[in-house]
Amino acid sequence: MNKQELYQVANNYISHKKLKQFGIAGHVSCALETINGNVFTGICIDLPCSIGLCAEQSAIAEMVKNNETVIEKIVAVYEDGSILPPCGRCREFISQIDDQNMETKIILPELREVLLQDLLPEGWDNKWK
Ligand SMILES: [Zn+2]
Repeated sequence: MNKQELYQVANNYISHKKLKQFGIAGHVSCALETINGNVFTGICIDLPCSIGLCAEQSAIAEMVKNNETVIEKIVAVYEDGSILPPCGRCREFISQIDDQNMETKIILPELREVLLQDLLPEGWDNKWK
């Protein structure tokens, strides 16, 4: 699947779900493709007491549930259709799922792409590798 197709998959899951009180979900959606060619998706959940889950983490949980850990490429899309780079927590999260994920292609705005290792150049855990 190419970058544009993966973007479209993520975009298809965009919604704006209102939850209890001021909680919302689905305003960011993520699609990832594994090295085996499988695609997994997830949406964000933001709750009023600051508990939340990024769309990337949601998609990664789905991937791990299906016994895969290596991501070929990943994209997150905001409800206005723009592409969001992963937050710092997600960058770290992706890197710690599998060492090979330092080679994951992160899809950026305008469908540019960068390897995760270029977004996390100085790993705090390099001394244990
Ligand atoms: Zn995040």
